[in-house]
Amino acid sequence: MSADMQTLLRDGLTALQLPPDAAEPMRRYAEMLLERNRVMNLTAITSESDVARLHFLDSCALTMFADFHGKSVIDVGTGAGFPGLPLRLAEPSLKLTLLDAQRKRVDFLREVCDALKLSGVDCVQGRAEEYAAQNRERFDFAVSRAVAALPVLAELCLPLVRVGGAFLAMKSVNCDAELASAARAIRTLGGYVKRVSDYTIPGSDIPRRVVVIEKRHATPSGYPRTFGKIKKNPL
Ligand code: SAH
Repeated sequence: MSADMQTLLRDGLTALQLPPDAAEPMRRYAEMLLERNRVMNLTAITSESDVARLHFLDSCALTMFADFHGKSVIDVGTGAGFPGLPLRLAEPSLKLTLLDAQRKRVDFLREVCDALKLSGVDCVQGRAEEYAAQNRERFDFAVSRAVAALPVLAELCLPLVRVGGAFLAMKSVNCDAELASAARAIRTLGGYVKRVSDYTIPGSDIPRRVVVIEKRHATPSGYPRTFGKIKKNPL
C-alpha cells in the first residue's frame, strides 16, 4: 500500500475536521477490499488514490451535513461498506448497521470488522423493504449511495428512520430531475427535503451532492411495499 494513500486519507480527514488517526484502519480496510476484489466483485474502483478519495473520503464527507456522534445509523445497500464503515471509523461513537441483500458482501464486511476489532457494528444480510418489518423507525439516520433512484430509495430508507431523524441520500450533481420525481414519494413517506448540498470530495475537484431528507411524520403503515410493487409502481 503506497504512502500516497495514507497521505491522501490523512489530509482529507484533516480537511473534514476528522481525526487523522482513522487513516490507519481505513488503509487496512482498503487493503482487504482491493485484495478481495481480485476474486470477488466488490468495487469497480481499483487505484489506491481513487479508493481513498471516491470511497473513503466521499463517505466521510457526510459528516459535513449531520452530527453522527452517538447516533444510530443504517447504511442501506452498503455493498463493500460505503458510506457506513468509513463513517464509523471516523466517528467511533456511531452505532452502525450495515445492510445489504448480498450474502457475500456481508460476509466480507464481517471479516473487515473482525480484522479491525470493531465492536458494535451490525452486519445484516437482507433486503431493506423486508428488514423494515422488524426495524421500523428505529434509526436516527439512514444513509445510502448508488443503490436506486430516489423515488424507490426513499421507500427503502425512510420507513427505517425515526421521526426527527433524517435520511441522507448521496447522489450525483445532476440529479435535479430525479429529485423532482421523488417529491411525492418523500412527502407520502413522512419526509421533507431539508437541504440539497453540493460538495467537492476532499483532495479532488470531483463534485457530489447530498440530499438531506428529514423525517417529519411517521411513515403510514403499508409502506414499504414489496420490492416488486415499489419498482413497478414507484410512489
Ligand atoms: N453503497 C455502496 C454499494 C452500491 S452497489 C457503494 O456506494 O459503493 C448497490 C448495493 O445495494 C448492492 O450491494 C446491492 O446488493 C444492494 N441492494 C440493492 N437493493 C437492495 C435492497 N432492496 N436491500 C438491500 N440491499 C440492496
